[in-house]
Amino acid sequence: MKLFTLGPVQMYPYTLEKSAEQIPYFRTPEFSEVVLENEKMIKEIAYAQEGSKTVFLTASGTGAMEATIMNCLGRDDSVLVIDGGSFGHRFAQLCERHEIPHQVLKLPFGEALTREHLKEYEDTPFTALLVNIHETSTGQLYPMELLSDFCVKKNMLFIVDAISSFLADPFYFSKYSVDVVIFSSQKALALAPGLSIVLLSERIYEQRVKKKKCVSMYFDFDSHIENGKRGQTPFTPAVGVLLQLNDRLKHIVNQGIEDCVHFAAELAGDFRRKIEGLSVELPSYPLSNACTPLVFPDNNAKKVYENLKYNYGLVLTPNGGELADKVLRVGHLGCHTLEENDVLVKALKEVL
Ligand SMILES: *Cc1c(COP(=O)(O)O)cnc(C)c1O
Repeated sequence: MKLFTLGPVQMYPYTLEKSAEQIPYFRTPEFSEVVLENEKMIKEIAYAQEGSKTVFLTASGTGAMEATIMNCLGRDDSVLVIDGGSFGHRFAQLCERHEIPHQVLKLPFGEALTREHLKEYEDTPFTALLVNIHETSTGQLYPMELLSDFCVKKNMLFIVDAISSFLADPFYFSKYSVDVVIFSSQKALALAPGLSIVLLSERIYEQRVKKKKCVSMYFDFDSHIENGKRGQTPFTPAVGVLLQLNDRLKHIVNQGIEDCVHFAAELAGDFRRKIEGLSVELPSYPLSNACTPLVFPDNNAKKVYENLKYNYGLVLTPNGGELADKVLRVGHLGCHTLEENDVLVKALKEVL
């Protein structure tokens, strides 16, 4: 079975080896060292400035999205949410549930987010922007620079879910004046699910996190940051995943983050070239290197998915809802090679 999914994804052999080891007791100086190293390496590869804070949450990505809202936003805020698919929609639902005043920029499937969309909101006062920089449900990569400029100009907090984009697309925390970025273990980090990482700017930490009383005890960033100073978490973390993370980050730092992203672009580009001529279409909006969304003009996406899974052992990522018969996503995250693209393209040709 080969996974061309978006999470969990095909893990690296060294991660699989790590995951077979006994989980150690964690209130120890040795484990603290691992956590502090993780923090240092995460900041390094995200290009985050001194003074930024890291929170390791034992939760899936949605937990980290919700925790971010609970720790950083309140009823006095006015938030703009980019809703171009199911993950953007989730941010809107979270604002709804936590009673955060917000407006939704709804992007229909197939439409690229541009300067024109933002123009409409130029004169509306907002305090924060919530965006999933790669909207995983459609594969659209939003323009980071444009959104960053918009937030800087309007003095808004820039809150980015980069869960499915980090390591696949270029990302610069400080350069783009990001206030919060969220990562998760099961996407490009290619680890077991269960761990999410939230990186906070000094500004949002000082202005929001420190001043605001979080209604959740488990998700209180302040207590995570306090405990984090000595390399610990307030409660039992996903110890095994933090150890896998340490090992994986060392490989990434060794390889170099630029190189990592470059290879992701090469993998995605190679696949996209190889499918030219097949009876599938690609959307016209900008794509993340993490994923190639295939649009099936004959509405046979679901059938193709099942055929590839059961007859070839190749698992693609199906879409739900309205796009279930129309779209199938090919994930390029995790341990993949160019040769595997050949195998997948050959199978796709046969199935179509
Ligand atoms: C996967 C993903 C999430 C997290 O989903 P969980 O199922 O909660 O882990 C959040 N945002 C984006 C953009 C994602 O791709």
